[in-house]
Amino acid sequence: MHKLYWRDRRITAGDDPIRLAGNVTGKGVGGSTVHYAMYALRMHRSDFEVRSRHGLAADWPLRYEDLAPYYEDVERELGIAGPLDWPWDPPRRGAHPYRPHRLNGVGEIMAEGCERLGIRWRPGPIATLSAPMGKRPPCVYRGWCIFGCSTEAKSSTLVTYVRKAVAAGADVRPNSMAFRVNLDARGRARSVSYFRPDGRGGWREEEQEASVVIVSAYSIETPRLLLMSAGPGHPDGLANGSGLVGRNLMVHSSHMVFGRFPEPVRQYKAPPASTISQDFYESNPSNDYVRGYSIETVGPLPIQFAQLLASSLGLWGRELREVMQDYNHYAGLGLVGETLPQEANGVTLDRNDRDQYGLPIPVVTFSWHDNDQRLFAAGIDKQRQILEAAGAEETFTVDDTAHLMGACRMGDDPDRSVVDRDCRSWEVPNLYICDGSVFPTSSASNPSLTIQAVAARTADALIAAAGQRTV
Ligand SMILES: Cc1cc2nc3c(=O)[nH]c(=O)nc-3n(C[C@H](O)[C@H](O)[C@H](O)COP(=O)(O)OP(=O)(O)OC[C@H]3O[C@@H](n4cnc5c(N)ncnc54)[C@H](O)[C@@H]3O)c2cc1C
Ligand code: SF4
Repeated sequence: MHKLYWRDRRITAGDDPIRLAGNVTGKGVGGSTVHYAMYALRMHRSDFEVRSRHGLAADWPLRYEDLAPYYEDVERELGIAGPLDWPWDPPRRGAHPYRPHRLNGVGEIMAEGCERLGIRWRPGPIATLSAPMGKRPPCVYRGWCIFGCSTEAKSSTLVTYVRKAVAAGADVRPNSMAFRVNLDARGRARSVSYFRPDGRGGWREEEQEASVVIVSAYSIETPRLLLMSAGPGHPDGLANGSGLVGRNLMVHSSHMVFGRFPEPVRQYKAPPASTISQDFYESNPSNDYVRGYSIETVGPLPIQFAQLLASSLGLWGRELREVMQDYNHYAGLGLVGETLPQEANGVTLDRNDRDQYGLPIPVVTFSWHDNDQRLFAAGIDKQRQILEAAGAEETFTVDDTAHLMGACRMGDDPDRSVVDRDCRSWEVPNLYICDGSVFPTSSASNPSLTIQAVAARTADALIAAAGQRTV
C-alpha cells in the first residue's frame, strides 16, 4: 500500500507541521481517491460565502447553485450510497443514487450517543456500491478501503473515470513526473516536460506538446510545479502574478477521540465511513469561533491503531501490546473541522535540497489560526460527549489533520486569486488548474465530491471554449 502514498521527500514546517505522506496525498493513477475513506459530501451554501458572512477568509467565485447540477452528475457516476433524507444544508434533493449501507459497530455507537444527546445523525453518503453497478460488485464489508479496494466496489477516479477516459482515447503515462510547463513566444502554454521511467531503473526526459494544459497534481505538487516553471517573463513562477501560488494552504483538523467499550465493537469491520453528524457545521453566535465541523466515524485497522497509540500516547513495548489486546473494544470518531486560509500557510521550494529527480523539494508550512484551535477544541469535546453518552468507559484523543485544500485559489479578482471561476489561470490563457488546490476555503466537508464537481464544471467550460475556438 505504500505505493499508493506520496512518500517523496518533503519538508514539513511551521508552528504546527502537517503529517504528510499517506495521511494527505496519494500517488499514481487515480490519485488520493484510490485510498480515500469515501465520504462523499456536498458543501453547504454558507461555505461559498465565508467572507460575505463573517468578514474573513474569502468567498468562492461560485455559489452552491453553480455546482448543484455537477454534484448530481458525479454522485450518479460514482454510485454514491447514502440516506434518503438529509437534514442539513443543502436541503434534501431526493434519494442518493444507491441505498445507504448498514451501520457498522462504530456507526451504531455514534448513532446511540447522538440519540441520547439529541444530536441528529445519518448514515454517511459514501462512494462504495450498495448494489452492483455494471460488472462491479457491491461492497463486501471487509474494511480495507484505505489500503486500496481490491474488489472495485469502491468508486474512485481510477475505477470510475480512468477506464472511460482510456476508452475515449486518453493516453495514460503512469510513473511519470511533470517538472515544467513550457510557454511559447506568445505566453501560451506550449508543452509539459516530464521524467518517465527508462526501463533500466532510471528516468528519461520527455516533452509533450499540448493545446491546453490542465494541472491536477493537488495542493502541494500543483503549486510546486508552477513554482518550478519560473522563467524569464515570470521569475516568481508560472501564473503567479498575484503572488498567491503556494499560499493559503489549508488542511482539515481531523482530531479523533476513541472510547473503550465493554462489549466488542470490531472497528475493523466494513468501511470506516459509517455515521455522520453535521449539527455543528454552521456558525453559531454562542460559540467562541466561527464556522464549524462535521463528526464522522473512523475505523483504523490494527496496524494504524497501533501507530496512533505509539505516536499520540507514546505507548510502546508491553504497554502498547496490552492496549492493542483491547483493539476490538474501541470505537473512534473524527472531526472534519473547517480551517481558515492564511497566506503564511503554504508551499515553497527548497532549492538546496533535491529529490530523486534532482528537483527542488517542497516545503509545506502550516500553523493553526486561533479560530481553528477554538473550533477543534469544541469538536473534540463534543466527540467525547457522544462516546461517553454511548457508554464509553474511558476515552483518549489523537491530534491529526486530513485533506489538503487551497494553495492556488480561484476567484473573480486576478490580484487575489490564481485561477478564475472556470479554473483557468489569469495569466496563461490555455493553462488550467483542476484539483483541490483551487479551494478558497476549506468547508467542514470532505473535499473530493466538490473537487470532482468543480472538475465536471471545468470540463463543460473547456468544451464550450473549444466550440468557440476558431483555429
Ligand atoms: C487517507 C485519506 C482519506 C481520505 N478520505 C476522504 C474522504 O473520505 N472523502 C473525501 O472527500 N476525501 C477524502 N480524502 C481526500 C481526497 O482523497 C483528496 O482531497 C482528493 O483525492 C484530491 O484530489 P485531487 O484531484 O486534487 O488530487 P489527487 O487525487 O491527489 O491527485 C493528484 C495526482 O497528481 C499526481 N501528481 C502529482 N504531482 C505530479 C507530477 N509532478 N507529475 C505527474 N503527476 C503528478 C499524483 O500522483 C496524483 O495521481 C482522503 C485522503 C486521504 C489521503
Ligand atoms: S469494505 Fe472492502 S469491498 Fe467495501 S469498499 Fe472497503 S475495501 Fe472495498
